[in-house]
Formats: sequence, C-alpha cells, structure tokens
Amino acid sequence: MITIKSQREIEIMRKAGIIVGKCHNEIAKIIKPGISSNEINNLVVEIIKNAGATPSFLGYGGFPAAICASKNEQIVHGFPNDIPLKEGDIISIDIGATYNGYVADSAWTYPVGKVSIEVENLLLNTKQALFEGLNVIKEGIHLSDISHAIELHAKKSNLSIVQEFAGHGVGSKLHEAPEILNYGLPNRGPILKAGMTLAIEPMLNLGTHRIKISKNGWETSTADKKYSAHYEHSILVTKLGYEILTKQ
Ligand code: MG
Ligand code: MG
Repeated sequence: MITIKSQREIEIMRKAGIIVGKCHNEIAKIIKPGISSNEINNLVVEIIKNAGATPSFLGYGGFPAAICASKNEQIVHGFPNDIPLKEGDIISIDIGATYNGYVADSAWTYPVGKVSIEVENLLLNTKQALFEGLNVIKEGIHLSDISHAIELHAKKSNLSIVQEFAGHGVGSKLHEAPEILNYGLPNRGPILKAGMTLAIEPMLNLGTHRIKISKNGWETSTADKKYSAHYEHSILVTKLGYEILTKQ
C-alpha cells in the first residue's frame, strides 16, 4: 500500500529533507582531492545530529556508516574509508536523515577535481535522467511513467541502467511501497495521488548494466569496472506536480 501523508507528516518530512539538502550543500563546498570519504561521513553525522536528527542508514540492515560512499565503478552501498580521493575520481554520496520519525533520502555524485569529458557526460545525463523522471510527476499519472521517462533519457545518452536497485516510497520508513524501477513501459502500475512521498533515484553506467556485489554483501560495482553515477531526491507528489523535499 502506498501511504498518503498528512499535512503534519509532510511538514516533518520537509524538515528531514532540509537537513539532507544541507549535508549535500556542505559536501559540495569541501570535496576536493585529498579528502577521504570518512571525513565526509563525519561531517554528515555532525550536521544531522546538530539538527536534532539521526542518520537513517547507520545500522540499517547492519550498514556500518551514516553515508554510502560509492567511488568510480561502485554503484551503491560503498563503505566510507580513509583513502584520500584523487583528481578524476567520482564519488556518489547517499544520505538519509530521520527527523521526528520521518526519513528523507538523497544521493548525489560528485566529481573530484577535474574529470574526463566522458565522465562529465555521465554525471550530467544521470542528473538529467533524475529530472526527466521528476518532471512527469503529478497527481493522476501512472507510476511507470516516471520509470519510462528515466529510461528514455538513459537510452538517448547511451548509458546503461542498473536494474537491481530502484526508487521507492519514503516516509516513516526508509523504504516503503512502491518500488520505482528506472526503466519500463508507460501507463503501468498504480496512479499517483497528492500526498505520496517518493525517492526517485536513477543509477546509470558508462559500460555494462551488469553488477558485481562484494564479499561483504553490500558494496556494489559495475561488472566491467566502468564508472557509475547516482542521483536521488525525495519528493512530495502534488495536484499539479511535485515538490523536492531534499533541495540543496
Ligand atoms: Mg538514497
Ligand atoms: Mg533511496
């Protein structure tokens, strides 16, 4: 069942979203060669705690950190570590904050210093795929219209789509119904209603769509080691469109 949030719940989710947006704003300011993903993790913990919230991912299913930090060929669920980032790396930082019992979830892929044109295009077009998905959202559309819009942009950009992970409903739980695939035919699935809150999150790759999961069962990379990008916003469905809750 897809829950419809009350005005009170939406207000809380807006606050959770502002906290996550602030984390991304601060990361954008400090990311550069030499910084480690553990330093980013510590910064995020500090911002979330100072805002009176808790990191949603820490301990979720046993996840060991507040952020997922997935570098280069890593797609999702990377563990932060002490290795300094290098010029030309990219790193996807996924953040969840729980405020008053409600979660906001947003991922962003950051270039470290200067990256190649090919990688720049990966980032631009994965971000654009997110917005193509968002821009069809309003009350009355079918869920899979979002999926279809994302797939069209990925195909147009010659990027492959990770199929094992998807967007989701978000609210009092990090992952709620429905699952929102990043590909599919339009006009399928449930019809969206105002008050639904969703996390839309395309993960696109330069090479193969196939994935490889590490021995720890979490860290997921592309099978051919080519770079992968991930952009995600938590949004509220409205009568005429959508509102981004995790605005930066
Ligand atoms: Mg996320
Ligand atoms: Mg998510």
